[in-house]
Amino acid sequence: MSELLVCPDPISASEWCLQQRQAGQSIGLVPTMGALHEGHLTLVDQAVAENDVCVVSIFVNPLQFNDARDFDAYPRDIKDDCRMLAERGCDMVFTGTLQQFFPGADTVEDINLLEPGPYAEGLEGEHRAGHFAGVRTIVDRLFTTTQPDRAYFGEKDFQQTLVVKDLAQHLGFPEIRVCPIQREDNGLAMSSRNQRLTVEQRQQAGGIYQALLAAQQSWQTGERQPDRLQDVMLRILKDHPLEIEYAGVRDPEQWTAQVPTGSMQRAQALIAARIGDVRLIDNLRLHGD
Ligand code: AMP
Repeated sequence: MSELLVCPDPISASEWCLQQRQAGQSIGLVPTMGALHEGHLTLVDQAVAENDVCVVSIFVNPLQFNDARDFDAYPRDIKDDCRMLAERGCDMVFTGTLQQFFPGADTVEDINLLEPGPYAEGLEGEHRAGHFAGVRTIVDRLFTTTQPDRAYFGEKDFQQTLVVKDLAQHLGFPEIRVCPIQREDNGLAMSSRNQRLTVEQRQQAGGIYQALLAAQQSWQTGERQPDRLQDVMLRILKDHPLEIEYAGVRDPEQWTAQVPTGSMQRAQALIAARIGDVRLIDNLRLHGD
């Protein structure tokens, strides 16, 4: 097991990263909100494999929660997180308070949020007001703190990967690496929030993946109309006790806030649903390579 350095604040993390860069070491950053699971850890594995040093940030970012209860209920277990990170060969993990990440800010209201950009329109952006401005603002701060060569994000948060790629393009760094979704045996996308589901709810939440697979099958048999692909998903979802926020398709290369019109050339199917008071998201690429 490698030695894991724990930096308690962004300043010490920034200094450590500077020393690494001065020593010619490439840095891979994995931003997380902790409560780590195998989904996060596959990002860590890839960062370890592709860089001289792997850095993980753990910060439950209040800027990206539009629901205070969700923020309060978000699971936190830094000790267990550090144990897993050490096992997977991570070199440094850092955390910090809101005030440490944004000096001079006493509350969330004191922080100047970045414009989230065009990919924040629609779906998650529509259902979680302010979410992507909060994401872009903290990811920008994490990038400037660590100055990584590469940063790793999960495809599970598909729209987030588009927002973050747009940010990296504006900054001129880092290279964004998008990693595949890790799933439970029944297809449910792994998520820190799954901890809050009962065994029965976990089974029921598997319906989200079944709906995505049905849309993919429909695509494979020639369906290209966005509203019909959406109907295929809704037909499956209605048989599960899920409260659907959205089930839709978008062209991942020509992002639109609204449902695209006409026949599609490429499609990503995306779903957000609640089960009990837990909000889950998932997505699947429908087109082939
Ligand atoms: P979070 O801690 O939820 O902010 O997630 C941190 C990173 O891990 C994000 O880039 C997520 O997309 C990614 N991630 C979360 N769950 C999964 C999963 N099941 N498979 C792959 N990546 C994931």
